[in-house]
Amino acid sequence: MSEIDRKGLSPRFWEHKPLKSMTQPEWEALCDGCGKCCLNKLEDEETGEVALTRVACRLLDDATCLCAQYPIRHQFVPECIVLKPSNIESNLYWMPETCAYKLLWNGEPLFDWHPLISGTPESVHAAGVSMRGLTIPEFEVGEDDWEEHIIAEPT
Ligand code: SF4
Ligand code: SF4
Repeated sequence: MSEIDRKGLSPRFWEHKPLKSMTQPEWEALCDGCGKCCLNKLEDEETGEVALTRVACRLLDDATCLCAQYPIRHQFVPECIVLKPSNIESNLYWMPETCAYKLLWNGEPLFDWHPLISGTPESVHAAGVSMRGLTIPEFEVGEDDWEEHIIAEPT
């Protein structure tokens, strides 16, 4: 995917439409393109705490922060989660704090840097909340070494 299509949508639809009532194009347009959900995470088995690493899914394009094969990604990464209103709640524990789906689910507004508000995907990178230029592909780091790449979420 080279960009998220945000054309032709009703102005500020996310402010009056519940997530459950959104059309597929509206739902897809909500993604801010930060790339943070495509990072590998480490979960502490005892505490359930989730640590973010900069080791990215093999399909993440570090320059655009988008999935390089989004429509057919499950052919390569079958475990990639398809986020929907029905499964957001069970995924909240690992979702990035600035994720638009998480914010709206929690009744919070989108940030001004969200492309739906700013009108450009570049604002996400300019705000310093994306993973552009910060990741390492997972095929370069063995899973045993992910711990050395734990990072704080850029917010
Ligand atoms: S964390 Fe949320 S907003 Fe960011 S890329 Fe993932 S789904 Fe999109
Ligand atoms: S398959 Fe694509 S959308 Fe899924 S985690 Fe990997 S880069 Fe992200």
